[in-house]
Amino acid sequence: MIKYIKVDKKGYIYCSDCEQGRIQKVILKKIQKEVYVCEECESLWFSLEEIILKKSDFFTGYLEDEGHITTEGFDDWDSILENGKFVQFDEVKDTIEKYKIKVVLL
Ligand SMILES: [Zn+2]
Repeated sequence: MIKYIKVDKKGYIYCSDCEQGRIQKVILKKIQKEVYVCEECESLWFSLEEIILKKSDFFTGYLEDEGHITTEGFDDWDSILENGKFVQFDEVKDTIEKYKIKVVLL
């Protein structure tokens, strides 16, 4: 579990690993699944609750392991994933309150 979470003035939460990037929703088209990825360090989580509760995975490594991308680097990213919006504080608020995570306003 994280000790605190950073939130900017627009309400976006920041990655607990690098503290530099917002967390983006990404749809993996092949399996029609939404995952959550740091825009800076490629930390990966599989649910909104996990962003607060679990250690992150690594996005590129996951994509390779699961066969979404090749290791040769000739991938057509548009057919693999679709970038969505950044995660907002309101979407994780319940978890943050439940586990009494400290909120740091930027
Ligand atoms: Zn990060």
